[in-house]
Amino acid sequence: MPDSFDLIVIGSGPGGYVCAIRAAQLGLKTACVEKRATLGGTCLNIGCIPSKALLQSSENFEEAAHKLADHGVMIDGVKLDLAKMQARKGEVVNANVKGVEFLFRKNKVTWLKGAGKITAPGQVEVNGETYSTKAIVIATGSDSTPLRGVEVDEKRVVTSTGALELDKVPGHLVVIGGGVIGLELGSVWKRLGAQVTVIEYLDRLVPGMDAELAKQAERLFGKQGMKFRLKSKVTAAKQNADGVTLTVEPAAGGAAEEIKADVVLLAIGRRPYTEGLGLDTVGVALDERGRVVTDAHFATNVPGIYAIGDCIAGAMLAHKAEEEGVAVAEILAGQAGHVNYGAIPGVVYTWPEIASVGATEEELKAQGVAYKSGKFPFTANGRARAMNDTDGFVKILADAKTDKVLGAHIIGPDAGTLIAEMALAIEFGASAEDVARTSHAHPTLNEAVKEAALAADGRALHI
Ligand code: FAD
Repeated sequence: MPDSFDLIVIGSGPGGYVCAIRAAQLGLKTACVEKRATLGGTCLNIGCIPSKALLQSSENFEEAAHKLADHGVMIDGVKLDLAKMQARKGEVVNANVKGVEFLFRKNKVTWLKGAGKITAPGQVEVNGETYSTKAIVIATGSDSTPLRGVEVDEKRVVTSTGALELDKVPGHLVVIGGGVIGLELGSVWKRLGAQVTVIEYLDRLVPGMDAELAKQAERLFGKQGMKFRLKSKVTAAKQNADGVTLTVEPAAGGAAEEIKADVVLLAIGRRPYTEGLGLDTVGVALDERGRVVTDAHFATNVPGIYAIGDCIAGAMLAHKAEEEGVAVAEILAGQAGHVNYGAIPGVVYTWPEIASVGATEEELKAQGVAYKSGKFPFTANGRARAMNDTDGFVKILADAKTDKVLGAHIIGPDAGTLIAEMALAIEFGASAEDVARTSHAHPTLNEAVKEAALAADGRALHI
């Protein structure tokens, strides 16, 4: 007779595994179903972690080859060992996925290996066994959005998964999509020697982020040698002996032209993944974009079935999925779990990094909110100068009347780390004045955040 549980989580990505651990901490008898051979989901296996390993390695290569000379560190004959770089990435992934296995053992979470299918409320089938449970959390994540006319083979026409596995630096990499994944993986291969062209449908990069960041990103990555074709759409990809030929048209319509590539990275977004879960059988409602519909407590329309992470509405980010995992576990344990969606940062791990939290200027304008803006460039920050990394700025948006921080947008060195301070400020309902009056160690990059907060009141000290 198979075990019965208080909670079965389906999917072991950052949403699912964190939910399972938190539920077990709270005393629920918990199992997590994962069909992949390793735990950790998209993020640890083919997403956040391997991409950051390659971003770090490729940035180290770029520094050794091009940047350290400015510091008086002269290195002759810098060479790339791509096989070693890829092997190191594999070790990083392995250590992380094994870490989740250890955490499951430590917290007594049962890993049910195989594909999970909901056969009825309170029943999950895995490998022909049916397990009963008081609650089910769907955390099955997302996969890459396909594009008509562009067939992926993960060798020459790749999604992010194939782009993380290339065994040769492509001569010309064409990236379809100027969002986070396209820019990050485009940066990796650019640094390792590829010519990179990014084709984007919209008239800007990183859609959804503050437009001023997008403009600056286009300028800075352009300076690094990336080529951008904005307001353009790819309508076909044909493979031939020496690569791939793309048909590209203006987004608004017009004459088509051909662009040749050695490798094409399709990175136009991700879509929720709920295939084979049996949702239609049990009647769980999906929205028009295939996302599981949930209420404010992550409950679906079927009692006892909940959903979190990339397969529901909202930003497709690992830490958003994690917050939801914790919140739903706490709700199931009788506590008051909650996620503040206004304080979830978004980061692009290029160099410079791009990071945002809260409202963009465009959103505030559209909502008719009266706001003030404080901006400070890294050229005026002592630490950034010492690092020789002065590209970019910090921008803080605060309510014109109350001074409450409404949003913060950073492009610059370590922006992804710097944004945490502003996420905390928003979480605590801080004013720009609170940030401005907080002592920031000197000389640090964080001083640029303090100065931007001072600038919101027209009294920056170092510009
Ligand atoms: P997932 O991580 O997608 O996990 C879902 C799991 O469910 C998978 O392991 C899948 O095998 C399993 N599953 C699905 N169906 C079943 C079933 N029926 N039975 C059993 N198991 C099943 N986000 C960030 O915040 N920061 C980043 O730097 C970042 N970088 C990224 C880079 C890339 C290249 C990609 C592709 C994504 C990146 N993301 C990043 C996004 C991040 O990976 C996702 O937001 C996150 O993984 C979502 O977590 P999740 O738990 O909802 O689902």
